[in-house]
Amino acid sequence: MIKFLDLQKINLVHQQEIENALLEVFRSGWYLLGERLKNFEKNLASYIGSSQAIGVANGLDALRLILKAYIELGFMKVGDEIIVPANTYIASILAISDNGLVPVLVEPNIDNYNIDISKIEEKITPKTKGILIVHLYGRIIFSEELQQLAIKHDLKIIEDNAQTIGAEWGGKKSGNLGDAAGFSFYPGKNLGALGDAGAITTNDETLAATIRALANYGSNQKYVNIYQGLNSRLDEIQAAVLDVKLQYIDSENEIRRKIAKRFVSEINNPKIILPEYPENELEHVWHVFIIRSGNRELLQNYLAENAVQTLIHYPIPPHKQEAYKEWNNLSFPISEKIHDEVLSLPISPVLDENEVSKIIAVLNQY
Ligand SMILES: *Cc1c(COP(=O)(O)O)cnc(C)c1O
Repeated sequence: MIKFLDLQKINLVHQQEIENALLEVFRSGWYLLGERLKNFEKNLASYIGSSQAIGVANGLDALRLILKAYIELGFMKVGDEIIVPANTYIASILAISDNGLVPVLVEPNIDNYNIDISKIEEKITPKTKGILIVHLYGRIIFSEELQQLAIKHDLKIIEDNAQTIGAEWGGKKSGNLGDAAGFSFYPGKNLGALGDAGAITTNDETLAATIRALANYGSNQKYVNIYQGLNSRLDEIQAAVLDVKLQYIDSENEIRRKIAKRFVSEINNPKIILPEYPENELEHVWHVFIIRSGNRELLQNYLAENAVQTLIHYPIPPHKQEAYKEWNNLSFPISEKIHDEVLSLPISPVLDENEVSKIIAVLNQY
């Protein structure tokens, strides 16, 4: 059976280094806000090319904290609107509504599954204060046009970079394209911790200082609280593990690209719609490899019978979730079509050549 994602295998590649790092933290007696976190923040900022990186507890908190900081700084207020793709993982949208901001959904582009930039401007109102772009499935969404739109309407561009660490656009890494970015190091992400973890990158020092305080009870000095903050810390154990794995992210993303390239060039079944392989391959780090089929259930069952495990990212669009009942009657046909048809194939740095060949053969026989 080819697993969708073999996390044990992915982490055992770095067994010695990770075990040494874990042991060092354990023996140090220092578990929060220590040297390991400082090192990881420094290395992450340097990798992304941003001046600031802040470790936090998870990816949802990273996005929540960016918006909360913009509210504290007066750039946004409760009731303001944030543009977001209609087909994202729900966390992007939760981060907005949790802050009392209003998510405004925009349809994706069927060719790359990312927000359709040409449909953003019609959704901008006097209340719009930001665009939360989501580099979905590992592919960057960015353009000059988007930048110009943000300048024209004085909007913050916030990147949900949970799925796309290491991708590049115009010589810059994702996470350094907008005003601030949220990262998730959930175990299954391209850079995965051994539990929950997240981070924020930005070049805005005031924003960074505000986020740092907000993530630590609203405190910038022990027992002095300037905001009503939260507790969202990246612990020393996760920081130490992430620091080890960060060294290998480029080579691991490169393996994902090689696999994606094989899938795209060797799967040739007309019943299966393949993803676009971007002209500039650095724009994609293939967090998931999405195929589409009009009869997904049949295809998924067939693959399971042939020992290929697949997942669906994601089966229900946010506007059809009970959590957002007020949107249930809205219509986003492109997003709905994507949610009805997508299927994610196994792809990871430990998927070997034979497994890739087998997946291709099974799909071509379907
Ligand atoms: C994983 C993910 C998140 C949330 O990350 P957590 O660490 O699970 O909180 C946010 N946005 C997207 C697009 C994600 O894939």
